[in-house]
Formats: sequence, structure tokens, C-alpha cells
Amino acid sequence: MGKKDLVCIVCPMGCRLTVEKDEKCELGYKVSGNKCKRGHDYGIKELTNPVRVITSSVKIKNGILPRIPVKTNGSIPKNLIFECIKIINEVEVEAPVKVGEVIVENILETGIDLVASRSMNNIQYDEALLFTISELKA
Ligand code: SF4
Repeated sequence: MGKKDLVCIVCPMGCRLTVEKDEKCELGYKVSGNKCKRGHDYGIKELTNPVRVITSSVKIKNGILPRIPVKTNGSIPKNLIFECIKIINEVEVEAPVKVGEVIVENILETGIDLVASRSMNNIQYDEALLFTISELKA
């Protein structure tokens, strides 16, 4: 692959990058269009080893909602995303869950965990709390 155009997603500026092979450059690639070093590094990584943080949700039993948001606590290789989503779709947890709690440890042996992005109480706990509050107001 000689040359690739892409949009930098590291910050909201969204610079349009061009990455091309150039043996004269350090790491063998020349990046243009970037406004900072982070964009330079992103451009090279996107061509050599693209990675992503995954955000999604999993089913939760006895929660106040049917699903709880989750995310990977680091970036995983882009070519593992579909396999990762398959695992996420099969997972079911039980409330209560605390924010940051590990939902799937070392997903696909990447060294990265899938963690809860929010806390969620057990529905019975919330109903009991609402009952207590309404009792106090009466
Ligand atoms: S190159 Fe730098 S300024 Fe431009 S989008 Fe990427 S991180 Fe932001």
C-alpha cells in the first residue's frame, strides 16, 4: 500500500491525513496534513497496527434497565473487533454492578478487560428505596 488518506480521530479537529511509505522517514512512513505529533503517530499506527476502544452494552439481569453500557479499558486490534462484539452479545451480568467492574477479563487474550461504564442497582433495591422515599414524603 503506497498511500492512504484518512481522517485523524484523536481529537475533534479531525485533520485530513495522508500517510505514504517513505523509507527516508523514521518508521518508514511520511504523514502530512497533521497539526500535531499525535496525528503523526495515529496515521502511522492506522497503517501498521490499527486499534480501537470498543464501547457497547451487555444484558443485565434484575437491573433497572435491560442493558448496561460497557467499554474496553484499552485499545484492541481492529481485526479482533467482530470477535469481541460476538462475545459482548453473549454476555449477561447480574445487578448490582459498579462502574469500572470487570465484565470480561483479558478479552480475546489481548490483556484488555471489558468493564462497566456505569453502575446499576438491583431493581428490588431501587423499588425499596423509592418506597422509602414516598413513605417519608407522605
Ligand atoms: S492531527 Fe492533531 S490536531 Fe489534528 S485531529 Fe489529529 S490530534 Fe487533532
